Amino acid sequence: MPVAYTRDGSEWTPSYLESIDHDSCIGCGRCFKACAQGVLAPIEKPYVDDDDDDDEDMGGTVMSVASPGACIGCGACGRSCAKKAQTYITV
Ligand code: SF4
Ligand code: SF4
Repeated sequence: MPVAYTRDGSEWTPSYLESIDHDSCIGCGRCFKACAQGVLAPIEKPYVDDDDDDDEDMGGTVMSVASPGACIGCGACGRSCAKKAQTYITV
């Protein structure tokens, strides 16, 4: 069910950012730049050694949903992401 309206009164359903898949995210920062609401923040990818070799799977930087309550559901982050790492919800 639409919960918002555009300027001309058309119904519009926001899609709020729920999560970012850290296995897909490459930390490029495009979504961070696209978001005008300050929802996103880069973090160090949690260290995960999920294979049997002896190498160290260093994580690097990934994006996190730091302030989900500030999201207006515009979807700009997802449109900027080549990896389609975002998951959205509607309310
Ligand atoms: S645009 Fe996509 S790949 Fe780049 S930091 Fe954001 S979620 Fe990660
Ligand atoms: S949907 Fe819009 S407001 Fe929400 S995190 Fe993405 S770019 Fe920011």
